[in-house]
Amino acid sequence: MNTSVYPQSRHLMGPGPSDVHPRVLAAMANPTVSHLDPEFILMMDNLKDMLRYAFQTENELTIPLSGPASVGMESCFVNLIEPDDKVIVCQNGAFGGRMRENVERIGAKAVMVTDDWGCPVDPQKVSDALSCNPDTKAVAFVHAETSTGVQSDAATICAIARQNNALSIVDCVTSLAGSPVLTDKWEADAIYSGSQKCLSCTPGISPLTLSPRAVDVLRNRKKKGQSWFMDLNLLMDYWGEGSSRSYHHTAPINSLYGLHESLTLLQEEGIENAWQRHSSMHLALRHGIEALDLSFLVAENDRLPQLNTICIPDSVNEADVRSYLLSKYNLEVGAGLGILDGKVWRIGVMGQSAKKENIILFLSGLEDALEKQGLRIKKGESVYAAQRALGS
Ligand SMILES: *Cc1c(COP(=O)(O)O)cnc(C)c1O
Repeated sequence: MNTSVYPQSRHLMGPGPSDVHPRVLAAMANPTVSHLDPEFILMMDNLKDMLRYAFQTENELTIPLSGPASVGMESCFVNLIEPDDKVIVCQNGAFGGRMRENVERIGAKAVMVTDDWGCPVDPQKVSDALSCNPDTKAVAFVHAETSTGVQSDAATICAIARQNNALSIVDCVTSLAGSPVLTDKWEADAIYSGSQKCLSCTPGISPLTLSPRAVDVLRNRKKKGQSWFMDLNLLMDYWGEGSSRSYHHTAPINSLYGLHESLTLLQEEGIENAWQRHSSMHLALRHGIEALDLSFLVAENDRLPQLNTICIPDSVNEADVRSYLLSKYNLEVGAGLGILDGKVWRIGVMGQSAKKENIILFLSGLEDALEKQGLRIKKGESVYAAQRALGS
């Protein structure tokens, strides 16, 4: 039997996707035109301008890649790194491990700089690694580690890379639009992101920006990269400036309408206001969590506002709490990833999910779920603490 699919809507407070604004979904229901339609080409130019605003950059090569954020990650490596190059890869969580995989699959050498899960990347270790490896081509790190909820000091790490003539490759998947990503100020060389985190679009698009220095490296490769699909030299014949656009692959037309609308929403709000909203909602959540005597994995100064890792009390069955929240409150939170599996919940406060209604619903649902688990909960206290923090 064939049936249509109508899933119920949820409150998405996991590590992504986040809640999608109705205007984004409505934009995606517009008529599909061709990828070389003149109206579509106009939209592509607007889209690139709005992405420059989101990335706070003037970089000409600023485009949305067709595919999830993993395509953004892989594109940076396959375009900028060649076999036998050396790359310093910082790992302080799950995603740094994927960067290492990318480097090694190219046949390049990954020099690892590791920090504990829950701690930021230590810039001093990066500096030391560069001193020992002066032939390093690039330094790669994750600005916002979604597996742990830690923010690393991107400005400092990019500056260290630059002083040592290495490119910087920065994962800003979870930070873009949620906390400051200052591409030009940092002088970062390659930054990729995803559509489904703080941009609150549907999954499947990966915004990317490359500095002129990185474009030079791309243009002067010794050998063609191994990926035809991700070859930015070819892709720029479609996304580049000017009227002579040629087909590379069929762009995901309706998804791009959606991204265009979510970037329009970001412009309407103002990016500084969006950063501020994420911080305020994080603060409200923090007060609520503390009122329940629960603790955060990450030290206060290193926390990401948009991804909160909360330690699970000993007597609590963490999976039961998550399924209770989903079935009774229609609210999704994330489990721990990798070595943090079973140890933390990951509470996303990203994009459209970063709003008062979600914080209050989550805290009251959590109180209920923890009481069902046998914890003695002072009902209403966490909600009250969050409301006070929000000034209501
Ligand atoms: C979500 C995420 C990714 C991967 O995104 P996909 O869209 O699932 O490919 C990469 N890096 C970080 C830091 C992320 O949070």
